[in-house]
Amino acid sequence: MINVITKVEGFILNTTNYGESSLVINILTKEYGIIGLMAKGAKSIKNKLHALTMKFTYGFFYIYYKENKLSILSDVDIIEPFKNIHQDLTKISYLTYICDLTNQVYRESNEKDIYDLFINTVYKLNEGLNPIVLANILETKYLNYLGVGINLDSCLRCGSTKNIVTIIDGGLLCRDCYYNEPIKDLKMIKLLRMYELIDIRSINNINISKNLIDDINEFLNDYYDRYTGLYLKSKKFLDKIKDSMME
Ligand SMILES: [Zn+2]
Repeated sequence: MINVITKVEGFILNTTNYGESSLVINILTKEYGIIGLMAKGAKSIKNKLHALTMKFTYGFFYIYYKENKLSILSDVDIIEPFKNIHQDLTKISYLTYICDLTNQVYRESNEKDIYDLFINTVYKLNEGLNPIVLANILETKYLNYLGVGINLDSCLRCGSTKNIVTIIDGGLLCRDCYYNEPIKDLKMIKLLRMYELIDIRSINNINISKNLIDDINEFLNDYYDRYTGLYLKSKKFLDKIKDSMME
C-alpha cells in the first residue's frame, strides 16, 4: 500500500474525540468539500498536532490520503490565525454559527463557491465588521444555494412588480394584496438585494441603522425557519446575546 501526501487548503469546522488521545477533525476544503481527518495523538498537549487542530484553524493540511478510510493528518501550515476573533467571545459565537450554517448548507449543495463565501466572511469578522450584518449577508447568499432565494422583484401573492408596500415573512406585498400586515421600511428590500449581490471582500465599513439590521435579521430568521428546513441552534443562541453587543 502506498500512502500519498496531499496538501489541502481548509478550515476546521469541528472536531470529535477519537479514543483516548486522538481527534477526528472535520474540515471544509475548497477541492474536496467537507472531509474528516484523523489527527493521531492530537489530544495530548505534547503532540505537535495539538495546537494545529483546534476548531477554526485555517491552513494547509498535509494528509496521507487513504482510499475508503479516514485519511491521516500529518502537518498543518496556518494561513491566517484570525487572532481578533479568538480574543472576542461575541465573534467566536458568530463564527460558531457561520460554521454550523456553512456545514449544513454544504451538505445540501456542494457548490465550490460556498468555500470562498465562507472564508471571506471569516476574514471580515476578524477585521471587526458588524457580525450580525456579515451573518445576514452570508445567509442571504446561501439561500440561492439552498434553492429558496428570496423573490425581491414582485408581490408574493399576485406577482405584480408595482406598488410594493411592505415586506413580510415570505417576501414582498403589493397594495392590492395588502390586508393588515406590519408595514416595514422598504429600505430592507434594497439592502437584501445588496446582500445578495455584494462581493464580501469589497466591504470595508457597514453603516446601517440598528432598526434595519434587526428587521433584516428577524426577516431572515423567519425565512430560514419557513423555507430551508435547517435547524440552527447556534443562531437561536446568537439572538439571545445580540442585544447586549449592539451599542
Ligand atoms: Zn399583490
